[in-house]
Amino acid sequence: MKNREVAKILYDMAELLELKAENRFKIIAYGRAARAIEGLKEDIVVICRKGQLESVPGVGKAIAQKIEEYLRTGKIQAHQGLLRETPAGLAELLQIPGLGPKTIYMLHDRLGIKDLDELEKAALDHHIRRLPRMGAASERNILRAIERYKKRSTRILLSNAEPIVEEIVEYLKGIEGLEHITPAGSLRRGKETVGDIDILATASKSDEVIKAFIRMPIVEEVLSKGSTKASVIVQETVQVDLRIVEHKSYGTVLQYFTGSKEHNVKLRQIALDRGYSLSEYSLKRLSDGQDHFFDWEEDLYHILGMQYIPPELREDSGEIEAAFLGRLPELVDLKDIRGDLHVHSEWSDGRGTLEALALEAKNLGYEYIAVSDHSPSIGIAGGLQGDQLERKIEAIHAINETIEGITLLVGTEVDIKADGKLDYRDELLEKCDVVVASVHMAQRQKERAITGRLITAIENDHVDIIGHPSGRIIGKRDPYDVDMQAVLESAASTGTAMEINSYPNRLDLNDVWAKTAKEFGVKIAINSDAHDPSQLKVIRYGVKVARRGWLEKKDVLNSLSLQGLFSYLKH
Ligand SMILES: [Zn+2]
Ligand SMILES: [Zn+2]
Repeated sequence: MKNREVAKILYDMAELLELKAENRFKIIAYGRAARAIEGLKEDIVVICRKGQLESVPGVGKAIAQKIEEYLRTGKIQAHQGLLRETPAGLAELLQIPGLGPKTIYMLHDRLGIKDLDELEKAALDHHIRRLPRMGAASERNILRAIERYKKRSTRILLSNAEPIVEEIVEYLKGIEGLEHITPAGSLRRGKETVGDIDILATASKSDEVIKAFIRMPIVEEVLSKGSTKASVIVQETVQVDLRIVEHKSYGTVLQYFTGSKEHNVKLRQIALDRGYSLSEYSLKRLSDGQDHFFDWEEDLYHILGMQYIPPELREDSGEIEAAFLGRLPELVDLKDIRGDLHVHSEWSDGRGTLEALALEAKNLGYEYIAVSDHSPSIGIAGGLQGDQLERKIEAIHAINETIEGITLLVGTEVDIKADGKLDYRDELLEKCDVVVASVHMAQRQKERAITGRLITAIENDHVDIIGHPSGRIIGKRDPYDVDMQAVLESAASTGTAMEINSYPNRLDLNDVWAKTAKEFGVKIAINSDAHDPSQLKVIRYGVKVARRGWLEKKDVLNSLSLQGLFSYLKH
């Protein structure tokens, strides 16, 4: 049903009209019509087709025409016009909790406030308390709401969002009446960062589940609560929405709330081409208005004539076309990973012994793990001098004699120096099983220089993998100014692998470049870069990036058996 969509755009118009201090009756009419449509049992599309829009309470001739326009074109000209006329900063103020359009209009009208910064300044300067119906408390509330809004508009790392979801899901599973529960949204798609967290559930007693949800110990604030939906704040700034949906449309709703928006827009168009209207609740056949409900997403994709599309691929980057042709990749999975080729031990700046790393790797079911400590030029990271490296090699051999069921490999993360030379002589690299080469210094060089450095390393016969190839750190540091196409071309021609570094704030290569690397025929190593044995597990985030990059098992270097790995490595 499009009822919700239509209601939303009418609510939007009411707010925009109010920001302009338009005629009261007009504003009230839009709000009233929106509420009525929201509560309708019948599909607004059907009502419109029967020419009965004006029978809906609050819908007069003018609003009926606009609804009809929306259903026909997906837009309302008058709405577009209002958006154009409203200063962008003013519309943003509507996002501040507790600030309604009427207040915003007054702030704009009396104090000339046009955006968030001006609002904050006016509150700090105590200009707001002098306005009618405002006081010192309103100023404090506004400042608090602004602060929270600013924090909330920053996304959190997937690795921070996942434990929150796990805790909530575990908690709610203990509540009587809960049936299915799953996260949706960008978290389900495995994106590197997550905005709000969306959770969907089915339940025989939705009231009880909602009640339990808002009373969870981790909840710091309840933003809203209805009979089937509630929103809360946890960890100061993270918004979590829980929706209880009907079992029969669980699949359709899950598909809708998983997104991405771009994927869903295209899917809706495909449904239309095939004579259906796809909404968040059902697939409606246009010829007879019959609703099809799906409790599993798979059935929805199949009825539209395509393969089931895994959530990680739903970005409208070619997955829909591939699904029609039956050519979706068979995505690599965590269980395909047979070892880790980039971890640090206490020999450089890691915290674990070689034994601890070996045992933890064995625990994870790995066949091998390469302990790739730093080279000496990274002084602060405790890089190993040549003689120390020789002693570490002996220590590794000794452990391989004593611990069964896992093979420690001699690795190194050798630094690519500012001039492109490697930090170890070839004779030392020769003694390593796995050589990861990475840039850590002079990261701000110009594109030509830094690209040249990486290519020089790639062309070295001993270098097997380029570590964290773009150097970006999410939220902190942009990628190097590097010509990644040229780097990938060179890697393809020399058989050098590129890393997906699974460290939660690196995830580098990112999904887009990982996909390009695959297209170039470059192998990818998914490594943890763990600095503690407990961090070996972060590899799951690298696997998500790999899946988002369309990688299959055969594209991943460390999905090879130990023997396969040895025959692939450069020497
Ligand atoms: Zn590094
Ligand atoms: Zn490292």
